[in-house]
Amino acid sequence: MPPTAVVTRRGAERLRAGHPWIYQSDVAAVEAEAGDVVAVRGERGRPLAWALFSDRSQITLRALAGVPPPAGDAAFDDRAWLAARIRAAGEYRRSLAIDANAYRVVHGEADGLPALVVDRYDDVLVVQALCQGMDRRLPVIVEALVEVFAPRGILARNDPRVRGLEGLDQVVEVVHGEVPDVIEVREAGVRLMASPRHGQKTGLFLDQRENHVAAAAYARGRALDAFTYNGGFALHLAERCPHVLALDSSAAAVETTRANAALNGAANVEVREANVFDELRELETAHARFDTIVLDPPAFAKNKASVARAAAGYKEINLRALKLLAPGGHLVTCSCSYHVDEAMLMEIVTAAAADARVSVWLVEKRMQARDHPVLVGVPETHYLKCLILRTLA
Ligand code: SAH
Repeated sequence: MPPTAVVTRRGAERLRAGHPWIYQSDVAAVEAEAGDVVAVRGERGRPLAWALFSDRSQITLRALAGVPPPAGDAAFDDRAWLAARIRAAGEYRRSLAIDANAYRVVHGEADGLPALVVDRYDDVLVVQALCQGMDRRLPVIVEALVEVFAPRGILARNDPRVRGLEGLDQVVEVVHGEVPDVIEVREAGVRLMASPRHGQKTGLFLDQRENHVAAAAYARGRALDAFTYNGGFALHLAERCPHVLALDSSAAAVETTRANAALNGAANVEVREANVFDELRELETAHARFDTIVLDPPAFAKNKASVARAAAGYKEINLRALKLLAPGGHLVTCSCSYHVDEAMLMEIVTAAAADARVSVWLVEKRMQARDHPVLVGVPETHYLKCLILRTLA
């Protein structure tokens, strides 16, 4: 008999609706060890799904997509499952013909590989195993990645704080081949230095890749990239704008953005270490004007409780940006807070436009790049919103 879990009617209904997470309160009984793949059954014994079991997290079960439900007493073949899902994930990314050599190869739940992230930086892979089941299977995952992608090296960037919720420690280690400290990657026409060991996330904000290119398509005149990190938007804007001002409060990010600007021969990018909230106010006082502005702040709302404060923060930067925008100018405004959804971001922008007394067009509604797919029925997988706005000329 494989390890098993019995879920309540509510748990079964959630699974049926397509959501892979079953919370502790919807689990009636479990016979399994931490990190096991369990056969999930309904209260009357009906087989529902296979799932990864966690004995620590509030999310007790994470159902596996793309595998048939348990049949009889048959055991689960994790090796075959991991290899097949990883191969499918790779094939999907290949089908996108991505004009870059840094992108996400595995996006967790959306790829049927719950709590597993794999990012590619040229010939190096960076993996994050964010639940007990994936952590335990890291050696098998590495074997499958080597077989499918033949990378030069694989780094396990297992330092996100969420691992604590699973009772897992925070470790960063090379688990295959060699991994340089800094890797030069290409994103469309832009060259970027990525640092998978020390950078934010796994090195770059790969989810903004397509938005960098989309923003550049509207960019002209004087440009401002607030929250630039390593220059993701700024360097693309610099291909079309005579002057780009890039801001970030992190000294390390500013240093890398300057190095990236030099790497691209972009002498028109001015990088300033500054708090965006203060800098926008000062630019307004100085009567500065921009034709293109990008706002890509960190997640202001980390949880439901902080939504109201976050909304005030988003409102403030959007209001100030709209005031700094010349007529006919473009504002590319983003939010990566899952708890602030697209409708709420639209409301915030609408209020900001009213306060700034400008008429604004909504030109494009965008989201995270297609290598970070959204799984329908799982709102948590749609976290990045990007609106492209234009003020009436
Ligand atoms: N736009 C980037 C990603 C930005 S991530 C890209 O596409 O690659 C958010 C960035 O905002 C981080 O680099 C962080 O250091 C910076 N940041 C956070 N709070 C800030 C503040 N108040 N002022 C300026 N920068 C800030």
